[in-house]
Amino acid sequence: MSEHSTQAARFSTRCIHAGQAPDPTTGAIMTPVYMTSTFVQSSPGVFKDGYDYARSKNPTRTALEANLASLEGGKHAMAFSSGLGAMDCVLHQLRQGDHVLLSDDVYGGSYRLIDKIFRHHGLECTRVDMTNLAAVEGAMRTTTRLVWLETPSNPMLKVIDIAGVRRVIDKAAAGMKGGAADTTLGPLGTPLARPMYVVDNTFASPYLQNPLAHGADVVMHSCTKYIGGHSDLVAGALVTSDETLADRLRFAQNAAGAVPGAMDCFLMLRSTKTLHVRMQRHCENALAIARWLSEHPKVERVIYPGLASHPQHQLAMRQMRGGGGMISCVVKGGLPAARTMLERVKLFSLAESLGGVESLIEHPAIMTHASIPAPARAALGIDDGLVRLSVGIEDKDDLIADLERAIA
Ligand SMILES: *Cc1c(COP(=O)(O)O)cnc(C)c1O
Repeated sequence: MSEHSTQAARFSTRCIHAGQAPDPTTGAIMTPVYMTSTFVQSSPGVFKDGYDYARSKNPTRTALEANLASLEGGKHAMAFSSGLGAMDCVLHQLRQGDHVLLSDDVYGGSYRLIDKIFRHHGLECTRVDMTNLAAVEGAMRTTTRLVWLETPSNPMLKVIDIAGVRRVIDKAAAGMKGGAADTTLGPLGTPLARPMYVVDNTFASPYLQNPLAHGADVVMHSCTKYIGGHSDLVAGALVTSDETLADRLRFAQNAAGAVPGAMDCFLMLRSTKTLHVRMQRHCENALAIARWLSEHPKVERVIYPGLASHPQHQLAMRQMRGGGGMISCVVKGGLPAARTMLERVKLFSLAESLGGVESLIEHPAIMTHASIPAPARAALGIDDGLVRLSVGIEDKDDLIADLERAIA
């Protein structure tokens, strides 16, 4: 498929075709797995299409990056060996004294990267409930150079107004100045004159939400989740349409070196071919289960963006194309009741992570969010009776029967 026709194509067609063309040497329909660390040069410094060393560029990765850029409606994508590797690349754009504003319930590992590594290098960081735009405005500083949020969030599935935060940033950034440049530092030597706005789109996937279209500068994914989709790899990605940011991010991708191997790139390309079909079924199953849970006498509360009872349901339906595959619910009877349920499930597996074809269930207070002190957990609403489900693409009636047996 030509570049022009894939640009114009709809999402499901782009999942399968964007960035991929038959192999020019053999006509192989699948992008080959280029297991090579280097490329032969015809004369010193003369090589094909930028392929000199595989940390800098690998053809399997190039195909994946073009595919991911298309799925997010962006011009440039960079793939990484993990979601946190992608975030690390973003944080390298900042300098000592810069301030980072995070949404209050970001992924624990994202907070740890800033608080335990980049704070040590002089970054400042605060968190704010970004469902409240006035609070975001109040938290912006003249030194803020990165605004980072996740929507829907984990595990409370709070939905943040991506375009609303863009407006707040633009207003706050009006008077900001960049500071002195240091040309000896290469692309990163020019200080950012305004905050970079990054949305972690892991929970929604590009099928449900495209943050660039709502004003984000960069989209980040943990491809370990829905993009990989089969719980068999760890990877990350960044997508942007901003040329300057793309140059800076690509520079740091190569300089810091957290790139994925060719086999993982191949597996992701195989996965994105079914992203639309998987997401459709994740959403369909999750909506059925959320409705069923809402009517269950042993369930106190169900949190699912696709239900009218969700506090930001209207916003979710404007900003997303469906409710997603994640559900959180509070079971009556607190920790003992939740523990019994989690021990009794058979089809749902008791495990961390999410976004795979198989259904998972977990207890945030004891598992994924245990590192947050109890009072802070309580402030976020992470109750001891809270259970998080990553609804897979099995038959929904089998999934409901499994939950029924476990709750009863
Ligand atoms: C898993 C996850 C990450 C971290 O990604 P890794 O691939 O594990 O490094 C970041 N953000 C969200 C929302 C995640 O779920």
